[in-house]
Amino acid sequence: MSEERGDEPALAPHPITGALFPSPVPPGTGWPGDTADAQTPVAATAAQVRRRAREALTAPAEPAADGLDARFDALDAGIGMCRACPRLVRWREEVAVTKRRAFADEPYWGRPVPGFGDRRAPIVIVGLAPAAHGANRTGRMFTGDRSGDWLFAALHRAGLADRAESAAAGDGLTLTGARIVSAVRCAPPANKPTVAERDRCAPWLHAELDLLAGHVRVLLALGGFGWDAALRAATGAGWTVPRPKPRFGHGARAVLTRPGADPVTLLGCFHPSQQNTFTGRLTAEMMDQVLAAARRAAAGD
Ligand code: SF4
Repeated sequence: MSEERGDEPALAPHPITGALFPSPVPPGTGWPGDTADAQTPVAATAAQVRRRAREALTAPAEPAADGLDARFDALDAGIGMCRACPRLVRWREEVAVTKRRAFADEPYWGRPVPGFGDRRAPIVIVGLAPAAHGANRTGRMFTGDRSGDWLFAALHRAGLADRAESAAAGDGLTLTGARIVSAVRCAPPANKPTVAERDRCAPWLHAELDLLAGHVRVLLALGGFGWDAALRAATGAGWTVPRPKPRFGHGARAVLTRPGADPVTLLGCFHPSQQNTFTGRLTAEMMDQVLAAARRAAAGD
């Protein structure tokens, strides 16, 4: 149950750990997977997003390691503290306070959502943005809504997730060989970020692809927005994108070449939104086929 004490924000227990949190969740207070703390710099402008994203790529490496985890921690922390889009900050925090009735007794993350999954993944799944009552509540990509239920079940069938259910951050779900990222890291009203918001958020995705560059072999784009974001990120990373620009479609495929590295296969997949899955536009079989193609491409077949 939520607790109210005078003017203090209402606290509610995390569904896994039981620890009490206000909504939105302050950094460094023990939310599972939160790598930010009160000292993490806040990016409040487009220039600061670019700078923080660049800085994360050069975060100090821990001894006797490739430093990748330290850099991911820094990137995830920077993303989780971003406030560069006033409209989206207002929306994500308003949703976190008003909540949906079904989740009234849960804390809402209410902050930007970092990528989730294997930090050495050959398959990188690029979505649109967190859902208002899904990832904006749980703080983990695709976790806590119907689209996510559908996606994680498919990832489990494909052998990329160790279980079919994704309940909440801290539930132990592990992805192996796959990572889920989004083009925009804050929940947008009506699932529609503006072009300016998309462009302001892009450096976070570009930095994440930089960190994954030594491992990624497949970009699996969910929907046309994810497809375009993947192409823009590839161009920004200096990869060669075919001309004319490849068109999105379910099962669409393009090869992106990189100087001095293996090529990356871009695959298109209809977004597992309820609009697509309820109407049969995207079936489980169609999703399984695309994931099987992703696995083959990741293996170099
Ligand atoms: S959408 Fe991206 S750039 Fe805008 S506030 Fe959220 S994390 Fe920052």
